[in-house]
Amino acid sequence: MKNEIQLRKCTKCGKLFSERGAVSRVDNVTIICSDCGTRETLESIGVGEKEQEKILDTIHNTVHTN
Ligand SMILES: [Zn+2]
Repeated sequence: MKNEIQLRKCTKCGKLFSERGAVSRVDNVTIICSDCGTRETLESIGVGEKEQEKILDTIHNTVHTN
């Protein structure tokens, strides 16, 4: 079996991504990129948009130094 990289297009932001992504909380079916998944999660606990981007920045910076 070949391990092909499957590119998906996020329906929320239109970004192409190859990582596993996240299941949208909206319908529990749609696969969205992990960033949008994080945004939905943060939104559901009442985090504002500006704050969401700050947290995503932090996550990205943390992942990069990995
Ligand atoms: Zn997205």
